[in-house]
Amino acid sequence: MDGEHILETEGLSKSFGGFAAVSDVGLRVKRGTIHALIGPNGAGKTTCFNLLTKFLAPTAGSIRYNGRDITRTNAAGIAQLGLVRSFQISAVFLHLTVLENVRVALQRQRGASFDFWRSEKVLKRYDAAAMALLEEFGLAEVAHREATELSYGRKRALELATTLALEPEMMLLDEPMAGMGHEDIARIAGLIRKAAAGRTILMVEHNLSVVADLSDRITVLARGKVLAEGDYAAVSADPRVIEAYIGA
Ligand code: ADP
Repeated sequence: MDGEHILETEGLSKSFGGFAAVSDVGLRVKRGTIHALIGPNGAGKTTCFNLLTKFLAPTAGSIRYNGRDITRTNAAGIAQLGLVRSFQISAVFLHLTVLENVRVALQRQRGASFDFWRSEKVLKRYDAAAMALLEEFGLAEVAHREATELSYGRKRALELATTLALEPEMMLLDEPMAGMGHEDIARIAGLIRKAAAGRTILMVEHNLSVVADLSDRITVLARGKVLAEGDYAAVSADPRVIEAYIGA
C-alpha cells in the first residue's frame, strides 16, 4: 500500500446466481481527488458502489481504505473510519427543520448523548456550527422550514450538508445529479467542488458533462470489468469506451 491511494480494491467481484455483475475490478482512488465511476447501463456501477458502501458483500476480492482491509467492515464501521456515503434522500428527516437535520448530524458526529445534546448551551453551540454550514450551502434562508417543504435540489443540498457535518475524509456519492434540472445541477456541482476541498470523493454519475467538469480521474466499467481509466480527455477518446457506449 502506498499513501497515494486512499481507496483500493483488488479482484473485486460480485455474482448473482451465475451472473458476474462485477468481475475482478481493481479500482484505485487517489487521495484528494474527485474520481468518477462511469459506464453504460448494466456495466456494474451500482453493484460496485454497493460493494464499496457495504450494502452488498463481495463474492471475491478485497477493499482497502487507508491501508486497512475493510472488506468485512460494515457500513457503520467504515463511517467511523471516515468513509461516508451521501445522497440518499431517505437520510434526511423530512419532518425536522433544515437546521435540526444538520444539528442531529453534528450531534451524531460528536457522539453526544441525547440529554447532553438538549442542554441549552450545547444546543446554541451546535446551532452556530449548523448555521455556518447552511450559509455555505445556500440553505440559511430555509433553516427553519421542515425538510419536506424543500425543492428536490435543495433536499439534495441538505443531504450534502448533513454528510459534511459528519466530517468525512472520503465521500461516496451515488448519482448526485439524478433527477435534476440545469440550475440544480450547476448548484450541486458547485457544492460538490466545495465539499471536495481537503477530501476525496468517489461518485457514480450518468451525466457525462458533469463528470467532465468535476472529475480528476475516471474509471469506465463495461460488463462488470474495468474498461479504461484516466482523465476525461483520455477515456472519452478511447475507442473501447466509445464502442461500449454506442454498443450498449
Ligand atoms: P449499472 O449500475 O452500471 O447500470 P448494475 O450494477 O445495476 O449496473 O447491474 C449490473 C448487472 O448486474 C446488470 O446486468 C444487472 O441486471 C445485474 N444485477 C444487478 N443487481 C442484481 C441482482 N440483485 N440480481 C441479479 N442481477 C443483478
